[in-house]
Amino acid sequence: MSVTTTVARSRRARLPGGVEHRKRSVYDDVTAQFNRAADLMKLDTNTRSILAVTMNEVVVHFPVKMDDGRLEVFTGYRVQHNNALGPFKGGLRFHPAVDIDEVRALATWMTWKSAIADIPFGGGKGGIQMDPSKYSLTELERITRRFTFALGNTIGPEYDIPAPDVNTNSQIMAWILDTYQSMMPAHERQRMLHVVTGKPIESGGSLGRDKATGQGVVFLIREWAKEHNFELKGATCTVQGFGNVGSWAVRLLKPLGVKLVAVEDVTGVIENGDGIDPDDLARYVKEKRGVAGYARARASTHLAFLRTKADILIPAALENQITATTAPLLNVRLVAEGANGPTDPDGDRLLQKRGIDLLPDILCNSGGVIVSYFEWLQNKRSESWELQEVDCKLYKRIVAAYGRVREAAKRYSVDWRTAAYVVALSRLEKVYKERGIFP
Ligand code: NAD
Repeated sequence: MSVTTTVARSRRARLPGGVEHRKRSVYDDVTAQFNRAADLMKLDTNTRSILAVTMNEVVVHFPVKMDDGRLEVFTGYRVQHNNALGPFKGGLRFHPAVDIDEVRALATWMTWKSAIADIPFGGGKGGIQMDPSKYSLTELERITRRFTFALGNTIGPEYDIPAPDVNTNSQIMAWILDTYQSMMPAHERQRMLHVVTGKPIESGGSLGRDKATGQGVVFLIREWAKEHNFELKGATCTVQGFGNVGSWAVRLLKPLGVKLVAVEDVTGVIENGDGIDPDDLARYVKEKRGVAGYARARASTHLAFLRTKADILIPAALENQITATTAPLLNVRLVAEGANGPTDPDGDRLLQKRGIDLLPDILCNSGGVIVSYFEWLQNKRSESWELQEVDCKLYKRIVAAYGRVREAAKRYSVDWRTAAYVVALSRLEKVYKERGIFP
């Protein structure tokens, strides 16, 4: 285990449409968002200096045996931004673009997200720099287990609790749980169920966790629509990313009468002005692993996707998609950020200038961490709640968070992202003032 302070200022990643881009530092964007809100609310300087940096950054290099007998060494990360409100909490991502800069940004966003949702968690995030599609299932299992072993006590049910993110799922959480339990003394193993959330139901997962992030996005789109007297029945939407978040969001919008007209994922872009059935597409994607080749829509391009006229765009893939270059192309009324960090600060400015509303990531996709909290509570209490109870509690919590952000936006006459930061930072500022700093 080693601690790194490397700052990756830019990195290469494959962006939609197969374009290879030099990416800006995502952590710089987080810092710019943080500074804007901290200046505006005159955040206490001591709290500001604590929150401006991450607490712990762990980088592990670990060897794994491949199916053909070769050995490969992988690099994994876990960054813990802050735990003033409770244990570090945040997903694990398996992706070639994972690096210290990205994980640092994602961990920081988790702190704000938990604070806005008013749940007793801090912020953490991790991942492995790899393309999981290149490995067999047995290799993926060994990589996951060896990574868990390498992290050791960096994670723990009352200390730092991972969950699924891009290219990780409930199966991967089950392997992490089993590995973590196996490393514990026998008499302690049964108390470890809540070391990860997003587990399969049979292994201690919560009903409603699989759809939770998408469900939260939809609850908030409904609130936005109510507030703006906007009729969702007959409205149109587009989605970038058709994985856990994107697919659930558009499937849950379907019963509200919202028509899906274009979808982009890592395999390509499809569009159909008459509507794409998200349930049918989900069955296709499960089998084919992407939207490309879906027969009930036409193949399209990244540029055409961005220009699609629709009421709602749900970015639910990766960071830095709505930028100075792409924001002028959008033809929508609302951007509901299912993904973390899909809009950079230039993109933000342009959306505001063009009068496009925004439900910011740290509010909009908080359904996942909220239901993760419910799963964690159920594990600690040896309970399993009914789906209706989970959905009802999620609704109450996320709509209350929406109300807090709306209030802050009004009070400071400011955009919703900055308002969401103000809500998070105010809560943390109070806690630091009450507790003081040891010694
Ligand atoms: P996922 O792996 O289930 O799906 C990711 C989707 O993005 C896939 O459809 C993939 O094809 C697409 N994608 C990847 N690279 C792309 C590219 N270059 N261009 C276009 N599409 C691309 O991941 P997920 O869990 O749905 O996460 C998506 C986003 O939502 C991430 O930003 C994640 O951090 C955020 N998020 C996830 C959760 C959760 O509970 N899973 C919670 C909060 C936020």
